[in-house]
Amino acid sequence: MLLAVLVGLPLGRAAASYITAPAVAVRIGASLQNRPLDVMCVGTGTQTVLIVGGMHTGPEVITSTLAQEIAVATQTGDLPVPAALRLCVLPTLNMDGLALGQRTNGNDVDLNRNWPTASWQAEAFHSGPVGAGAQPLSEPETRALYDYALGTNPDVVLMLHCCGGLVEANEAPGAAQFAAVYAAGASLGYIEEWKAYPVTGQFIDSMEEHGIAAMDIEMVGRDDTGFAAHRAGVVALMYYIATHPPVDAAAGASTTLP
Ligand SMILES: [Zn+2]
Repeated sequence: MLLAVLVGLPLGRAAASYITAPAVAVRIGASLQNRPLDVMCVGTGTQTVLIVGGMHTGPEVITSTLAQEIAVATQTGDLPVPAALRLCVLPTLNMDGLALGQRTNGNDVDLNRNWPTASWQAEAFHSGPVGAGAQPLSEPETRALYDYALGTNPDVVLMLHCCGGLVEANEAPGAAQFAAVYAAGASLGYIEEWKAYPVTGQFIDSMEEHGIAAMDIEMVGRDDTGFAAHRAGVVALMYYIATHPPVDAAAGASTTLP
């Protein structure tokens, strides 16, 4: 019930006395079944934090709830965005899975196995075999987010999952520091690499290939968003980014040249 209320909430109409900045919605595409994919951004700074929920829905639908809570908090004054930043939130990538009550999308594809990476393969795994799509970015949801991310080049992307209770970063410049800051702020564990089972064609690896820092945030449980902890993580990360110069991927790479 809470999720239904939140998903339908028009953010721009939050209580006026608390609005810190109006959210701007950007439609980045539509799902296979033509549900809108809307990113809501707050702030006019030059550095961007992008938070994505609901890559997996069904048993991970709590990630959509948390992302929506974060978006709402930027409108109620509970999560002010520093002037140097933009905070953008896509509450649910898998809009059809949300409607269908399933982890996969309308094609029964696991959206976190459908990204263009060196590791992509059609035979993918989660708790058993899962669909990875006909080829990388075969799904409209992954294509829309991929194009948006490469087009806007966020400083960091936070991808919400459930329920490992930890944070894992890719190897793009700055990513490890960002993930450690978030993990400390949100009182989550931090690992360098997920080793429980092989994950092929995953989002954070596709971002790494473009030098975009990204992290998987594994929430703790399915019944509670743990909003206060994640709010603390987002606040800590935004403060860190606002007080540190942008990481230059090209400059970082050049230090390894002979
Ligand atoms: Zn997941």
